[in-house]
Amino acid sequence: MAMTDIQQKDATQQQLFRLLPSVNELLLVSVCQALQSKYTREVVLTACRAAVAVLREEVSSGIHTEASLQKCVDELPKTISDHLVLGMRYSLRPVINATGVILHTNLGRAPLSDAALRHVVEIARDYCNLEFDLDNGLRSRRDDHVEALVLRVLAEDIGGTGENIKRGVVIVNNCAAATLLALNSIAEKSEVIISRGELVEIGGGFRVPEIMKKSGAVMIEVGTTNRTRLADYERALGPNTALLLRVHQSNFSIEGFAERPLLGELITLSKRSTTPVFEDLGTGLIGSLEQVGICGEPSLRQSLASGVDLVAASGDKLLGGPQCGILVGRIDLIQRIRKNPLLRAFRVDKLTYAALEATLLAYLAEDDGSIPTQRMLSIPSEELMRRCRDVVDCTRSANLVLEVVPVASLVGGGTAPKASLPSYAISLRHASLNAAQLIDTMRKLDPPVIGRIADDLVLLDLRTVPPRFDAELASMLQTL
Ligand SMILES: *Cc1c(COP(=O)(O)O)cnc(C)c1O
Repeated sequence: MAMTDIQQKDATQQQLFRLLPSVNELLLVSVCQALQSKYTREVVLTACRAAVAVLREEVSSGIHTEASLQKCVDELPKTISDHLVLGMRYSLRPVINATGVILHTNLGRAPLSDAALRHVVEIARDYCNLEFDLDNGLRSRRDDHVEALVLRVLAEDIGGTGENIKRGVVIVNNCAAATLLALNSIAEKSEVIISRGELVEIGGGFRVPEIMKKSGAVMIEVGTTNRTRLADYERALGPNTALLLRVHQSNFSIEGFAERPLLGELITLSKRSTTPVFEDLGTGLIGSLEQVGICGEPSLRQSLASGVDLVAASGDKLLGGPQCGILVGRIDLIQRIRKNPLLRAFRVDKLTYAALEATLLAYLAEDDGSIPTQRMLSIPSEELMRRCRDVVDCTRSANLVLEVVPVASLVGGGTAPKASLPSYAISLRHASLNAAQLIDTMRKLDPPVIGRIADDLVLLDLRTVPPRFDAELASMLQTL
């Protein structure tokens, strides 16, 4: 009796199903045995079941020949192993930032110092005195851990005018939160005067006019995009003015027919009208970048020394610490911020205080060199050239043509948009991959290497690569 087509198909499928191993057989394969020393038996068992189920499904849907199925079966242990390893891998992974952009927001901005890391681990592992005064056993404020420290680090030059101003510090999630909180605490339903040239978008959705609106402050725009004079502010001052807002034009520059009042002039007006000046400084630069050849970047010290009443800055930009927003200013303004119920929603955790405290202590000890961002800013270009040469010399690859080329590294993170640091990079050309394919492949390495493309070449700028990665980089490049 001839079999029908359907019967024929069923018979073939039955034969194929017989090729599938049982889960118990799979567990005995050496690869799966090894997996059981890393993961529990149950986890490996579940992975084996899932992998066999996928193949059974494929057989049912008729996509397999005996040959194709046998191949999949032979590869099952590896499939299971890959699946387990990938499924158990962290999503957040360290990468090698070879872009040369020191403060790269997409790559996590400032890496932390060793001291900050040690302090974070020690504070995270055990209980700590986050809101507990060890002297009297009473509850305390978490900002106490850094307030005096911030003020000491910034003390140089402060009060240079002879005034002895009492100041306070509040720490929140980031500079955007600091700005929103300050505006809401001090200027809700009142007027805030700002130059049209400072209605900026910082990136990541931070737009000054939108933050102002959410804060409940009434924005009074003065001047024009390119020119704002002191008289424009003066005319806008009224009984309902709560603040003069100054925003650091951090990620762009206006050239040509442009002017805005000097900060000092704005402060003089503020004193005359008893309207405080609030500056959104962003970068959190403590001292100066002049020693690395970048001029005109405003700093926290300068800002307070020149008489700004309240300033907001990021912790993870030029300060080189953890993500946070730092508000420093006149104690009466800080107290209004502390009373705002929104502060509770923006407060940061113990890990942030630990990292911030350690970073600030490095400034106080004049050990800025221990802070990675500060160190990267000041690496001499000859040193980078030498490191690039060493990596190139150590890379034995038939597929790659490597060269050492001069480039310009960027500071990034809304710092001095036109400022760059003379640097050196390794340029790579691959025998069979174009620049876009090569950069994709390098992103799949472990750890991933993030470079940039210029003129159809992949460039790896070593300014942002810690030297401890150099040897690893060379051996990874060899595999390309
Ligand atoms: C970067 C920046 C911000 C935003 O800081 P975050 O800490 O990322 O919230 C705000 N204002 C200025 C001027 C900045 O440069």
